[in-house]
Amino acid sequence: MSEAQAPLSLATEVEQLLQRLGVPRGAHTGGELTVRSPVTGEVVAQVRQTSATEAAATIGHAHEAFKAWRGVPAPRRGELVRLLGEELRAAKADLGRLVTLEAGKIPTEGAGEVQEMIDICDFAVGLSRQLYGLTLATERAEHRMMETWHPLGVCGVISAFNFPVAVWSWNAALALVCGDSVVWKPSEKTPLTALAVHAIAQRAMARFGDAPEGLLGLLLGQRDIGEVLVDDHRVPILSATGSTAMGRQVGPKLAARFARAILELGGNNAAIVTPSADLDLTLRAIAFSAMGTAGQRCTTLRRLFVHDSVYDALVPKLAKVYGNVQVGDPREAGTLVGPLIDRAAFDGMQKALGESREIGATVHGGQRVEGIGTKDAFYVRPALVELKSHDGPVLRETFAPILYVVRYSSLDDAIEWHNAVGAGLSSSIFTLNVREAERFLSSAGSDCGIANVNIGPSGAEIGGAFGGEKETGGGREAGSDSWKAYMRRATNTINYSTALPLAQGVTFDI
Ligand code: NAD
Repeated sequence: MSEAQAPLSLATEVEQLLQRLGVPRGAHTGGELTVRSPVTGEVVAQVRQTSATEAAATIGHAHEAFKAWRGVPAPRRGELVRLLGEELRAAKADLGRLVTLEAGKIPTEGAGEVQEMIDICDFAVGLSRQLYGLTLATERAEHRMMETWHPLGVCGVISAFNFPVAVWSWNAALALVCGDSVVWKPSEKTPLTALAVHAIAQRAMARFGDAPEGLLGLLLGQRDIGEVLVDDHRVPILSATGSTAMGRQVGPKLAARFARAILELGGNNAAIVTPSADLDLTLRAIAFSAMGTAGQRCTTLRRLFVHDSVYDALVPKLAKVYGNVQVGDPREAGTLVGPLIDRAAFDGMQKALGESREIGATVHGGQRVEGIGTKDAFYVRPALVELKSHDGPVLRETFAPILYVVRYSSLDDAIEWHNAVGAGLSSSIFTLNVREAERFLSSAGSDCGIANVNIGPSGAEIGGAFGGEKETGGGREAGSDSWKAYMRRATNTINYSTALPLAQGVTFDI
């Protein structure tokens, strides 16, 4: 490139990225679904939506593909996921950049999200040789009892805008090695990254050679297209990531047709800062967890309980960090807080701050930052809200960078308030006191699916099971034994004797 060349417009850069990533032009031009970049608020694509008839056909193809894929040995299925990991490595820079332009993440987070996809592929390749069942003790002589794990069927994936690519991979990498086919309905706010991932996956399929056609499907559109996936009886398992409101609609429908649900819903995550906390480390951990991704992670730190004895040492420093953090275009060096996804997110934030003021809270920050992009780009100063009590908008998730701070004097109170919200995703305690740490991690402590000590609630690794309790939905994805949700378990009893002893000593002589 010559030095005199002007920098690319955002829309041109998006187009070039899509081309390099292998997305056909017809998929992102001339369609009904308008895609705006939150970075500038400008329209960058018009994506072709999937019709209900096409969605049903895609599910049908995935159903047929499943019948072939379930017969492929699991380590061979792992080979497809290994190739997917290779293709993702090759595409990491471009896909990470597209995440930045479509979802507004700063570059290190855009690249980090793709790294997470690569990590789960590596994990799943190993898993493809470790889909273990148990051998069980039987009460009958010359019998053997064991359990085997079988593929389940088409795995539906519905995902949210804020992790536009990683969530698909957490599900798809596991589902594929488990012998399932996958049909994905990404957020209507981020279809471009989904198209790119689909193109990358098609390259892995082509290199693999004989993967059945239709193994990986993509449905683009609004929630009505997601509903097709929810309602289709050929989809025995659906992993749905998004708001608790979405889970309330989707969960009962899946239950009514006895489909398996992995629900990954909203969070209202908290941390407790105790008298012994290392305050320098705590400050840095809070800053990333609460302001990173502009407060738009399901695991974002939203509530902070600070002990009386350290409140004045910590909170004014935190307010200073909030006042100084660089908010702006994520493409610019030094930016730590990028844009909100859209106007609705901005309005939701302002509403919560207004309610906070009405109940007498002290609000630092929270105002709109003008002058970046068009009128449809929404940048805000992150808000620190000092509350008099644990009440009001703090009790619900507002998907924006608001951190509510509450003083406490007894750990009992802090833990009680910590657990007194609907969601139960992620949580932390900052302490150097082993009794406090262990208590927080015990059955009488945090009621969340994720509980940490001396790190913030956000930024999980794929090796652990990811998910939360209560209104977060109870689902688990990624590491540990989350794979079991994507398979069905059969208990087998084999009699290698000539007798026919019945269990529990029952006799039935004919
Ligand atoms: P959202 O609920 O608006 O949408 C999520 C997805 O669900 C989209 O693809 C949408 O089209 C689809 N959808 C919505 N209603 C549906 C219905 N009735 N039937 C079928 N599909 C439907 O969420 P969002 O604004 O994109 O994302 C933010 C929310 O997601 C936050 O609440 C956040 O905490 C949550 N989230 C949770 C996790 C987790 O792992 N627990 C991860 C990321 C985001």
